[in-house]
Amino acid sequence: MIPPTSDTTIAYLGLGSNLAEPVEQIKSARRAIALIPGVKEIACSSLYRSLPMGPQDQPDYINAVMAVETGLSPQDLLKSLQKIEKAHGRERKGQRWGARTLDVDILLYGEQVIDLPDLIVPHSGIAERSFVLHPLSEIAPHLTIPGKGDIADLLAKCPLVGLQRLD
Ligand code: ATP
Ligand code: CA
Ligand code: CA
Repeated sequence: MIPPTSDTTIAYLGLGSNLAEPVEQIKSARRAIALIPGVKEIACSSLYRSLPMGPQDQPDYINAVMAVETGLSPQDLLKSLQKIEKAHGRERKGQRWGARTLDVDILLYGEQVIDLPDLIVPHSGIAERSFVLHPLSEIAPHLTIPGKGDIADLLAKCPLVGLQRLD
């Protein structure tokens, strides 16, 4: 991984979609994220197909993980990502983990541990979700996740059930 310059940070973003042409949603979101002022794409995983978490009566998801270098604060990065979710038709209503056109989570922000009411980093699901760990390890196989350990150890404990790499 390319090291960040002193005033920037490498952040990892988890993308997911299961509505309105999910593959296109993810590709479009990737382009939009790379265009955020103060954000530069460093790497992007393959696309993956995963089974839904939570409510099962919804389509499969398409997921990917991006690495970006950014000078934005974590809060400003989240705001920009939420604008992109909105622009992609994301509606925040209904069930937790319900179907959505686009979800973008901040998985990691450098080595920072953040515990704010609206922002928890590392992301609370990072250590257990196969649709996060597998694409993340594809682009950052030697990562250590603050408070959780080495990605290789987390992967070894994370079943691959229901996850399919596309391309
Ligand atoms: P999950 O967070 O379990 O993946 P979700 O992505 O479906 O579930 P959302 O409805 O998209 O959850 O987001 C709920 C809230 O989570 C957001 O309003 C945001 O403030 C908060 N949040 C906390 N930590 C993060 C993070 N690391 N990345 C993105 N959102 C976060
Ligand atoms: Ca999510
Ligand atoms: Ca989210």
